[in-house]
Amino acid sequence: MRKLKEFTSEQEIIDCIVDDIKKNLERSKITYKGRKVLITGGAGFLGSYICQVLVEQEARKVICIDNFSSGKKENIERLLDKPNFTFVYHDISHEFNPEENIDIVMHLASRASPFEFEHHPIQILKSNTLGTMNALEIARMYDAEFFYTSTSEVYGNPDPAHVPTPESYWGHVNPVGPRSCYDESKRAGEAFVKAYELEYNIPVRIARIFNTYGPRIRGGPLFGRVVANFIEETLQDKTISVFGDGSQTRSFTFVSDQIEGLLRLAYPEIPQARSEVINIGNNLETTILDLAKLIKELTNSSSEIGFFGLPKDDPTRRCPVLDKARDILNWKPRTQLVDGLKLTIPWFKFMIH
Ligand code: UDP
Repeated sequence: MRKLKEFTSEQEIIDCIVDDIKKNLERSKITYKGRKVLITGGAGFLGSYICQVLVEQEARKVICIDNFSSGKKENIERLLDKPNFTFVYHDISHEFNPEENIDIVMHLASRASPFEFEHHPIQILKSNTLGTMNALEIARMYDAEFFYTSTSEVYGNPDPAHVPTPESYWGHVNPVGPRSCYDESKRAGEAFVKAYELEYNIPVRIARIFNTYGPRIRGGPLFGRVVANFIEETLQDKTISVFGDGSQTRSFTFVSDQIEGLLRLAYPEIPQARSEVINIGNNLETTILDLAKLIKELTNSSSEIGFFGLPKDDPTRRCPVLDKARDILNWKPRTQLVDGLKLTIPWFKFMIH
């Protein structure tokens, strides 16, 4: 990727990331050229990259469905005039019929930030249960392949013996806790996918996504995930809000790695991936305190690190086993945390100023 100082706009950073994803996919001859793909949540952080990659790979048609609950119109604005891109404003927890043939349905729509769990639990439950069923119905109606984005949250707060966590781990989830609207609905979503596979023989694939960051991740009080919050705080010289003592870990995946992994898993020409559930993430664990220190250093900020209450049921550790991704998809994350942050921080600078 190019050096940071060469970027003159936030859009250039996005285009650079998209080019990188396309290059890595095309090296393995993975192209969605000629396919018709329907993407729920296509205006979201991850969905909007997928839309852009597929449009630029000359997919026959990319149908993006979103209700801007956590996605943003700005994320897809530059795609709206492309002949192979269609946007439909719709909440997928209500039925939807595209009334045209579809080759692949990708279901990404869901709010994903812990602050949203508190404010929109019912909407979250609906997008991952009813929304998954409605998306599966589209695949059933048009004989399409189905791709579901699940989450590392299905593992809940795994006991230490199961970290790093393989796909075979069943999870340790509080069904009535503050995160249950997300964790349990994603688990139910996986069950829906498997039920449709069993009853209707739909070709399905499930990704379990681990913490992903990069340009376009949302900050602020409702949407802010940890990387976005720390960058925004350091750029404004505010106190860095570490929850708890910061000893909890996450394994942060840069968005280009995540999208490449997802598009490998969803690719129909990798038949070994059919029916599979595969972790897509980074297996380098970082403590939240180390993340705060690293972002402070990279932003050259005078912010102090502050310690605040740890949210209830906050998972202690998260780290994936990536053997299936390696063996089946020939994929592994390439981007070091420091390098991903060096692309994310300037993007936030463009957005703040
Ligand atoms: N976190 C934090 N400060 C923040 C936001 C999050 O210390 O401003 C912590 C949070 O408690 C968790 C980790 O960072 O341990 C990752 O949180 P995030 O909201 O990104 O997503 P999660 O992985 O919990 O779903």
